[in-house]
Formats: sequence, structure tokens, C-alpha cells
Amino acid sequence: MRPEEFMQIFAETAYVRTGGSPEERRCAEYIAQRCRAYGQTAIEPFAVDMADISRASLTVDGREVSCKGYLCAGSGQVQAPFLYLPNTDACSLAECRGKIVMVDGYLGYWLYQDLLENGAVGFVTYSGDANYTDWEIDQRELRSYVSQGRTIPGVNINAKTAIELIRSGAKNGQIVLEQEQYQGQSQNVVLELPGLRQEYILFTAHYDSTSLSQGAYDNMSGSAGLLAMAEHFSRAPHRYGLRFVWCGSEERGLLGSKAYAAAHEQQLKDCALCINLDMIGSVMGKFIACVTGEEKLVHYIGYMASELGFGIEPRQGVYSSDSTPLADKGVPAVSFARLASHNTATIHNSYDTAALLRGEQMQADTAFITAFAERMANAVRCPVGREMPENMKEKLDYYLNRKREKK
Ligand SMILES: [Zn+2]
Repeated sequence: MRPEEFMQIFAETAYVRTGGSPEERRCAEYIAQRCRAYGQTAIEPFAVDMADISRASLTVDGREVSCKGYLCAGSGQVQAPFLYLPNTDACSLAECRGKIVMVDGYLGYWLYQDLLENGAVGFVTYSGDANYTDWEIDQRELRSYVSQGRTIPGVNINAKTAIELIRSGAKNGQIVLEQEQYQGQSQNVVLELPGLRQEYILFTAHYDSTSLSQGAYDNMSGSAGLLAMAEHFSRAPHRYGLRFVWCGSEERGLLGSKAYAAAHEQQLKDCALCINLDMIGSVMGKFIACVTGEEKLVHYIGYMASELGFGIEPRQGVYSSDSTPLADKGVPAVSFARLASHNTATIHNSYDTAALLRGEQMQADTAFITAFAERMANAVRCPVGREMPENMKEKLDYYLNRKREKK
């Protein structure tokens, strides 16, 4: 695919497309439309939690503060002392009882369990950047695997607002949240290019975005890379079957790849390798490969890149993307990404546009991943060991909240 064609795809998908929204569906149809030129294409739907918020407010010491309510955090009203919780040691957590608690960063699974166990009655998170001029607020959700049905009302505010609240000595808060929750639908786009044998290689990239973002870099870049690879392999012969999956609702907790893994569990025993693309082609940044599988593959990719003169930092680990649910089912996986430093490219906000990307870099990154995929796809036998190493199993347990890492 030529550099201009990549940029054309970004221009045609320059809209917000959160998981389960009509815009996400529109983008799925756009991808499926392009795929039909390459082979048998299907849109596979799956159920996702949805909510319409009719009222969300945060009042601190009598002053209403700009906020967005958490989706799927139930409806309710709480009035309580306000507490900022910068540390999460047992001593700090003990202060939460009966309070509305503001935390730093994402509200992850273990922190939410800590808040509930320590008696918090409401929560506040903040997003954005205190050094940016905008006052945008990301639309967050309380994921069902985080809440496990135990909800308390919560809101998200801008980072600058959070600073103001603490500076002014916030004492009492009130959260009002009203919403209707229901089941909606997200979808994966699946393209099959049969090979000479039953075993196949799986390619994944998510095409959804977060609430403020056009998601050009994260991750129409990987989705476009996958389209270029599908185009390439639709013309080139290959021994292994190839399945391309453009995953929906990745930003909502890898829901598309989880749905794919669940719906195709029986076929996964024939899957030799999962190759995932999440964020490539950026103007700035270094190229990495993250292997959730045997260490030999890390070395193989490093040697191959050196042979081709392509700069890379390969490592073993668990990447926060659609490769992980597949790896958790025992499929060796590798994620490729070009990671820019935060002062040259930022994601999950309105600054993630095509301006972060370069057509020539898209072409170069895709060419390298294609060269690697081509070797695997035409191997007499794909050399990657099917056994998931113990250290990776442990990392998956941590990532998927089955085990808690000691602080
Ligand atoms: Zn992503």
C-alpha cells in the first residue's frame, strides 16, 4: 500500500468510534467493504454493556464542578466528605470509609476492590493533562469485570479541576448519577484467506477508539496496516491459512478479542501464532515487538530485523492489547508497535489524529511486519513453540486480575 493510501484511510475514518456505538459499526462496515475485495469477509457481533446517562453532577463544598458520570456505575445519589487518595497503602485506605474518594490514574480492578472493602461510597477520577489548555473530560465506564455488579456512583473530571479542588481544600462532596443500562452490540470484522493446510495464523488490530479520540494512531494505524497485509496476502501464496480480525471494543477491556477467542475456542488449537498491531506508523518513536510466548521468538525477530536493517526493540512480555486474550488461550502472540514518547504523540484524547502519523513510516512498519508474517505463513512448519512459558502465564494472571502483584 502506498503512503497516500494509508493517509487516505485515516482521512476516511477521522471520527470518534467507541465500542458499541453506531460510529463503531460504521467503521466496521468500512473495513468489511475494503476486505471483500480480498476474500471471504464476515461481521461477527457480540454483546456489550451500554448505558445512557440522563444526569451526572459533582458538587464540592456547594460549587458544581464540570464532570462526566461513569457509565454502568448504576444510579444513585451520595453526599459525603471528600477524600483525595494519592497513596493506596492500608493506612491510607482506612481513611476511605463513608467518603467520596478521588484517585489518580485509571480505576483498575484491585483499587476498586480496595475502595469497596474500605467503605468508600463514591469515587472521582480525573483525566486529561494539567499542562494542556483544553478542559475536555473523557467518558469513562465502570467495567463489569471491575465492579462484579457491586457499583457505587462515580464521575470523571479534568486534571486541572482535580488540582483546583485539592488546592482549595475540598471538604464535602455530592455525586448525583442517573442512567439507564442495557445490552448493546459491538462487532469484529473477520477476513479468511485459506492456505494449503488446516493450521492458520491470526492477525489482529482494534479499530475502535475512546470517547474523545479519532484514534488515528491508536489504532486505525494498526487496522490500516492489517488492511495492507490482507491486500498483500490475497495475491501472494501462503502455506498456512490466514485469518484477519479487526477487533471492536478493545478500549473497553479487549472485549472484541475476548469475544473472538470465546466464539472460536475450538479452532484455536490450529492457530500457530497471533500477530497483533497496535499503534504503528507514527512520525516519532521506536519500534517494538512484545512476545507473549517463548523467548526464542524474541531472538528470531531481533535477528530478522537486523538482517533486514530495521531498527527494533524486541522483548518478552504481556502487551495491553488484543494479543492478550489469545495468549491466555495458549496461542503464542506477538504485538508490534511504534511507540512515541508522550511529548510527541498522545492517545485517548482529541490529539490522536492523522497528524501523528506518516504514510512512509506506515509503509515501512507494515513492510517489516509483512516480511515476518510471510516467513511464518510459508514455513514448512511454523517454528514457534506452542507451549506458554511459566513466566508468561504468571504475567497473564496479573494482567487479567487473577493474581495480585505485591506492591
Ligand atoms: Zn490501542
